[in-house]
Amino acid sequence: MPASSATPETVTPTAFADSRPLGAAELADAPVRYPRPSRLAGPLKVPGAKAEQGAAALGLHTVGDLLEHLPRDRREARAVAQLVPGETATVVVEVRGIASRPVRRRGMRPLVEATVADATGTMKVTFFNQPWLAQKYSPGTRLVLHGKYEARNRFRVQGHAPTSEAASGASGAGDAGAGGHGGAEAGIEAGIEAGIEAVAHYPATEGLSSTQILALVRAHAGALADVPEPLPAGLRTRERLPGRRCALTAVHLGADAEQALGRRRLAFDELLLVQLALLRRRRLRSRGSRAPALDAPPELSARWLAEMLPFVLTGDQRGAIEEIDGDLARRRPMQRLLMGEVGSGKTVVALYALLRAVEHGYQGALMAPTEPLAEQHFATIQALMPGEAVPIGLLTGSTPGRRRADLLGKLHSGELALIVGTHALIEDPVRFARLGVAVVDEQHRFGVRQRSALDAKAGGPEAGRGEQGADAAPHVLHMTATPIPRTLALSHYGDLDFTVLAELPRGRQPIQTFVCSTERERERAYDRIGEELRAGRQAFVVCPLVSESQVLAARAATAEFERLRTGELRDFRVVLMHGQLPGSEKVDVMRAFAAGEADVLVATSVIEVGIDVPNATVMLVEDADRYGISQLHQLRGRIGRGEHASLCLLFGPKGSARLRALAQHTDGFRLAEIDLELRGEGELIGTRQSGLAQFRVAELPRDRELLERARMRAEALDAEDPELSSPENALLGDALESMFGTEALAPIRA
Ligand code: ADP
Ligand code: MG
Repeated sequence: MPASSATPETVTPTAFADSRPLGAAELADAPVRYPRPSRLAGPLKVPGAKAEQGAAALGLHTVGDLLEHLPRDRREARAVAQLVPGETATVVVEVRGIASRPVRRRGMRPLVEATVADATGTMKVTFFNQPWLAQKYSPGTRLVLHGKYEARNRFRVQGHAPTSEAASGASGAGDAGAGGHGGAEAGIEAGIEAGIEAVAHYPATEGLSSTQILALVRAHAGALADVPEPLPAGLRTRERLPGRRCALTAVHLGADAEQALGRRRLAFDELLLVQLALLRRRRLRSRGSRAPALDAPPELSARWLAEMLPFVLTGDQRGAIEEIDGDLARRRPMQRLLMGEVGSGKTVVALYALLRAVEHGYQGALMAPTEPLAEQHFATIQALMPGEAVPIGLLTGSTPGRRRADLLGKLHSGELALIVGTHALIEDPVRFARLGVAVVDEQHRFGVRQRSALDAKAGGPEAGRGEQGADAAPHVLHMTATPIPRTLALSHYGDLDFTVLAELPRGRQPIQTFVCSTERERERAYDRIGEELRAGRQAFVVCPLVSESQVLAARAATAEFERLRTGELRDFRVVLMHGQLPGSEKVDVMRAFAAGEADVLVATSVIEVGIDVPNATVMLVEDADRYGISQLHQLRGRIGRGEHASLCLLFGPKGSARLRALAQHTDGFRLAEIDLELRGEGELIGTRQSGLAQFRVAELPRDRELLERARMRAEALDAEDPELSSPENALLGDALESMFGTEALAPIRA
């Protein structure tokens, strides 16, 4: 390992430019230049009450906060629909209409007002003092605009340039929303060359503009000299990174090329610290607490697999079980993330782990984020374990009082071996006699605190008092149905081991997916649906995504329902489902469809997650390009669940990279990778919802290689100097603490 090549040596201090060693007294007398972090810790003075409020809103309290408040990456173009009032941003748009308008005040040149649009939305933009632009930027021109987005959908232009995309602009609108990232980048670079003012643009807010922030940064530039260098010199040299002080200076005040280098350095720091934190958390957890070693030969579990399970395990399921067996046999608590799409058979694997606990005389618990999910698991487990082989209970928020009291009593006494439930499981009155294995489903929907609460339930009252080494922590299996590409898994779940169930259980039929763009293809699509329906199958028709309001979505779905049941699908029983229907009606519709009493379900995208209609073999998605990749993938998961081959028809432009990806791949992990490529980390559904920390500087997948390097360095550091206590690592330790606090670094059971 490269990091270990630096052997510590004792260095004898000498006088300046001299080989004469210094004595202790001389050393003590020597003038020392300390960094002055106090300058960074000093309060940030902002002139004016409004600006002060703005600074507070941005979290800028000290000079250090200001210097860590980084300008936006200039290459980052924003979608019109994403802009928020008060923000300064760059967009790539097409001119729809443009005109100059006289200004009342004398001596002022006319304003130029234009309507511009990208694939996500339209806005009004204003150019000041350049009346000739009304002729120059005729409708159809593609522009890079930099400026400030204001209330009432107006954008004040500060910099502008036509982009090279002008020629292709007219036809390219279809896919610009998703795949537009790369194209936009090129466009902006062109724009910058064409003269967009090159100063840093900061995330700003009401009362404190980007320009004011830049002025503050300039005023406090001297304090940049006090920014400490957290990286050990050897590491920094080997990674060929500039110093942190230089990096910050470059990012705030430097030219473009310097900026990029500076950003790379800051991104490395960020990635390194996250990896160090994840590794430390994993190490402390495995050292600080002990789980029971579940290493006796399988009896109950083996019998269950061989005799009671109504099917043969897939290869991936067998592999997962083997890995879990290895984990459970150790005293280091298992912390494994089991990833597999809906229907991949995670519950079977989870039940195996729970049964291993039971056959060792321990209890098992499965926690799900919602009541329906908990109920579903409970039902699946009962179906998988015919007979009353093992007593099992269901505990949710709506478990009636007497039943609840009974369950709590039996959990505490140990009489109840298995429990399935919601957050109710981690509430205070719940006491386990001996919790050996905990399974947390859709783990990203629980907070760290909730997960650790389950950990803390491990050993009942006596274990709390037990000395270190008591069986104090359960083995934990986390599960998620959201496919996470390796880059994200590493950056966000680097403290867990991973197992993937990629293979779907046998008997599943493949889904063929087609992108339909023309009228002929539409006709053909309805013909194909008719064929399936006449053969006794069922179909979903998913209406366009209407994000503005549920009411509009419902209206669109209703219109499509009326159209189809009197038009193309008039020979069939068509039903309607949308979010505005009363609850009881929703239940009736779903029941009718599931029972085969309806042939076609027209729905908004809110098709219930739990719906399982194996007889449904066709899905038609209108305006499919409005959906994200993972949403489409989830939707498509509603078909292909039975014995018949299935068909998915996506209506949208042939050129759409997203739709093409869906037509080519059915593997959710592959699709997640593509999604990440196309949209960048922040947009990935699942990570955004999970509230995972977003990086400030690093950007995935762009910085994938940097992440891998940071992971490697972090592993070396964690192995050699786990406490980061040696002199050269001490500042890194400080940085880690100030980024995550001491609490976040403590073992999860702290
Ligand atoms: P997940 O929790 O990953 O969504 P489940 O464990 O609920 O998936 O399994 C989905 C369905 O597939 C269940 O009805 C389950 O009984 C069934 N199943 C699981 N594994 C297999 C298998 N190896 N062969 C056939 N059916 C399986
Ligand atoms: Mg499941």
